[in-house]
Amino acid sequence: MGQGYDQSTLVLFQGKLIEARFEAEAKLQKNGQPVLVEELSGAEGWPEKRNCIEKHISEKLQAERELKDIDEALQRIASGTYGICLGCREDILLKRLLLIPTAKYCVSCQQKKSKHNFPHPVSVLKH
Ligand SMILES: [Zn+2]
Repeated sequence: MGQGYDQSTLVLFQGKLIEARFEAEAKLQKNGQPVLVEELSGAEGWPEKRNCIEKHISEKLQAERELKDIDEALQRIASGTYGICLGCREDILLKRLLLIPTAKYCVSCQQKKSKHNFPHPVSVLKH
């Protein structure tokens, strides 16, 4: 059974998460502008424009997902379960949390989860 991290470590991660939250919010606002349909109606250059919209949408979705992950992590700090794996209830390594402050699972549970939910975006794990 994991004990979680001490208060000073939690405060450190809380600061990191709040900072990341501001960044994700700014990204969301930047990408939150409605796409102008008139600008996109011409057939000329359509593939490029479509790529542009798809990129725009995926960036927005990613920022929304980031915000959700950050909020969940902040909630776990508030409830005292931050840094404890949701799978095996053991402490998540500090090294992993420093790399991914929103990590919910330890490395082995994350790997098991990724296999079950295949295909899984590998990029999420690298952040
Ligand atoms: Zn685990």
